[in-house]
Amino acid sequence: GLQYPFDLDPLPDAVIGGVGHAGGGLSRQLVDPAARISFAEVRDASLAQIDQSVLTAQTARRPWADTPPAQRAQVLMALADLIAAHVDELAAVECVNVGKPLSQARRDVLRAAGYYRFYAGACDKLNGDTIPLGPDQTAVTLLEPVGVTAHILPWNYPISTLARGVAPALAAGATVVAKPAELTPLSTLMVAKLALEVGVPDGAFNVICGAGEVGEALAAHPNVAHVTFTGSTETGRRVMQAASGPVAGVTLELGGKSPVVVWPDADLDAAAKGIARGIFFNAGQVCAAGSRLLCHADIHDAVVERVVQQAREMTMGHGLTDPDLGPLISEAQFARVEGFVSRALADGLTCVTGGQRAHVPDCPLGLFYEPTVFTRVPETSDIAQIEVFGPVLITQTFETEEDALRLANGTPFGLVAGIYTADTGRAMRFARRVEAGQVFVNGFLQGGDTVPFGGVKHSGIGREKGVSGLRAYLAEKSIVLSHG
Ligand code: ADP
Repeated sequence: GLQYPFDLDPLPDAVIGGVGHAGGGLSRQLVDPAARISFAEVRDASLAQIDQSVLTAQTARRPWADTPPAQRAQVLMALADLIAAHVDELAAVECVNVGKPLSQARRDVLRAAGYYRFYAGACDKLNGDTIPLGPDQTAVTLLEPVGVTAHILPWNYPISTLARGVAPALAAGATVVAKPAELTPLSTLMVAKLALEVGVPDGAFNVICGAGEVGEALAAHPNVAHVTFTGSTETGRRVMQAASGPVAGVTLELGGKSPVVVWPDADLDAAAKGIARGIFFNAGQVCAAGSRLLCHADIHDAVVERVVQQAREMTMGHGLTDPDLGPLISEAQFARVEGFVSRALADGLTCVTGGQRAHVPDCPLGLFYEPTVFTRVPETSDIAQIEVFGPVLITQTFETEEDALRLANGTPFGLVAGIYTADTGRAMRFARRVEAGQVFVNGFLQGGDTVPFGGVKHSGIGREKGVSGLRAYLAEKSIVLSHG
């Protein structure tokens, strides 16, 4: 039997008003997707608890907004420290619940701590403007917290996605109701408990669990001022619709089909490493995954050969053994990936590596999938247009800058784009014209969490991370003073 290096016994199903609660709804088994055993149980919130969580956040709004900024900063800094102090336990839980490699889970936890630390530093720098209007009038603006903010989270990066929304919201003086994904609620509940220890006031940081119905009721609640959502484009649309009743603001981080362009003048070994990591880490269950490799025709085969070699060297196993790849999170996700691959094979597309379930002797039931590469895929194929959310890379070739740009922009998505080239002018021309929220030159997803992140087109609306991540949680108020 597996020995898990944590003890979940004292964990509540919800944290509302500074108190742990048993959920009033359905009970869910949480499954370790590598071992395929259920290792914990969490209950959904009832409808009354959803309402209660928003109302308690509404009540906590004034006192938290009125807490002097430097004091809010201290609380967030203390939370960052406490999360970092619990890194072993949090990382182990995240690793088992999501199925991700332990070292990556550990990095996620430390990134989460980093968000609380970064936004702690912003608390006392949220200044408005002064606008002189002539000798008799002066306008000033205040950046006020928006009120209650809802955070609907995905299952691929639970603890860091929580932090990148909750930290700026709390820094702004807003209050929070977070709803983790139904598959991965544990780290969110753990962080909410830690928040109580460092003096986040009761009701300022609430957590309720459940699936889509709970998320939708939360997003539609009349007292929620802003909804931050990370997930699929389809669900994002529903969240936007739900939030339209109370005219709440939305930040939507949605799907992607992100292109990575490689030119012959690039360092092909370095590019192949970045490309393999960019599509296969977290088993491809990453919204920003570089899932389309666009190669100049002259070097296509050379790049593919290197990427395939990287793919074949990747180890798979239970997250706790810290392999390169863990399993896919659920049977539904596994079936989705299998479906895309079998349709591509049926369409006669060329699969040069992977394309099937992987067997890991220590985890015979685990939902592992081999890193997979399809080459020279027609633009109109589903697998070239639709997000797979698994370890599946497709390649295409181009000859000219115009071709590369047309291919890069040829999907409904616009999250991330990458380009590998030694020609800075070419990189910059591409960066300026590609439809994406962020562009990575000679690297992929490098740069860290102080850089704004978000999408255009069907990849979303609004920005998280960095100083930009505060905007969603602040309402600007103008005061015009006629003073004679
Ligand atoms: P997946 O389909 O992979 O579970 P989703 O994008 O549907 O991904 O889920 C992301 C988050 O959105 C999860 O927390 C999920 O519970 C929540 N969710 C699902 N459906 C809805 C909905 N209609 N309204 C609000 N939240 C939802």
